[in-house]
Amino acid sequence: MYLKRLDIKGFKSFANETEIILEPGINIIVGPNGCGKSNIADAVRWVLGEGNVRQLRGQKNEDIIFNGTDKQKPQGMAMVDMTIDNSDHMLPVEYGEITVGRKLFRSGESEYLLNKSRVRMKDIVNLFTGTGLGKRGYSIIGQGELEQVLNGQAFDRRLILEEASGSIRFRQQRDEVKQRIAATTQDLQRLADIIGELE
Ligand code: ATP
Repeated sequence: MYLKRLDIKGFKSFANETEIILEPGINIIVGPNGCGKSNIADAVRWVLGEGNVRQLRGQKNEDIIFNGTDKQKPQGMAMVDMTIDNSDHMLPVEYGEITVGRKLFRSGESEYLLNKSRVRMKDIVNLFTGTGLGKRGYSIIGQGELEQVLNGQAFDRRLILEEASGSIRFRQQRDEVKQRIAATTQDLQRLADIIGELE
């Protein structure tokens, strides 16, 4: 699996349609300070379901939409499409190539797309959980984050290792089952109370 292509429009400093083609192996993006290199990493985080705009160096959701310059009007929508080569089927779907898309309109409305079909954010997050590209993954490390990981709490470090090893998927499933057991236990208790009253 590798990140093959990014299509960005209206996202942060990328006002116009921008296509970034990546090759297998190491790709290096160079440019002067403030030209938008980190915004590319932010675009990847965002399309993978990042919901905390502060992680994208913004204050409010709208901050990720291109807000105009002296020469260009603000955009009404931010969109990022990320295409992944999945010929090794590391992502558990039949497709050899997957395009994940996210859009945000100034009205606040947003959309997630998987190979052009609308899906829920949860579907995208589930798809990548445990592949190393999940929300708490180590694959995108921003400036200063390495220090945070090294000096972080044991619990946070454990989550990173669980994401990298893929075991986080099982932990989430276990937590869901635990919640269902708790709900069922409550239902049984209520049922026992009702039976008790009827007897
Ligand atoms: P450095 O090398 O200094 O780390 P960089 O190339 O990583 O810089 P970024 O941090 O990606 O640069 O981009 C910063 C630029 O993005 C700033 O010029 C900022 O004004 C611009 N920017 C951020 N959000 C928006 C937005 N919503 N609309 C327009 N421009 C934006």
